[in-house]
Amino acid sequence: MAHELPALPYAFNALEPHIDAKTMEIHHGKHHATYVAKLNEALISHANLQSKTIEDLLSDLATLPDSIRTAVNNHGGGHLNHSIFWKTMAPGGGGTPAGGLADAIKSTFGSFEEFKTKFSTAAANRFGSGWAWLCVDKSKKLLLRDFPNQDSPLTAELKPVLGLDVWEHAYYLKYQNRRPDYIAAWWNVVNWKEVADRFAKAT
Ligand code: MN
Repeated sequence: MAHELPALPYAFNALEPHIDAKTMEIHHGKHHATYVAKLNEALISHANLQSKTIEDLLSDLATLPDSIRTAVNNHGGGHLNHSIFWKTMAPGGGGTPAGGLADAIKSTFGSFEEFKTKFSTAAANRFGSGWAWLCVDKSKKLLLRDFPNQDSPLTAELKPVLGLDVWEHAYYLKYQNRRPDYIAAWWNVVNWKEVADRFAKAT
């Protein structure tokens, strides 16, 4: 079965003024849609891989045929990263997490503010295109990572909990070269309920 573009769980303008409607429309409807189409194209002559989930494909990237490994990394990673991204944002988001996630952030980073600063710095300093991620490792500990392009944390044996897309296509229409302003605004739309659910499942 072919991979499908998931519906955006809110309207294009729902994250205004922090993320503008035009960016959301192009980001979801063009960029994400293209990752899905190119992932399916890569898998077209590999019937045995078509029933695998995107999570399994990216976790087992090393076992894929050489001829499609890069395409699955780039387009499959793009598909999964964006699928997580849309769900971990919401209108009326922001604030701080609660429960087990809040406790884990405090014990790992010292405080929520310290975590926020470190995550923002990782996102701002990721050179070129990529993502900043809050992940859970094999010992169920939280950690911050940033990856280039569409590389998935799953390929590095990490479970992605919260990610921020810092490709220019994610912010250029509204923020141009001001990536730090985009990062600062994005905290206002983080869907901590969803992030906490992802953390609970990962641990
Ligand atoms: Mn993107």
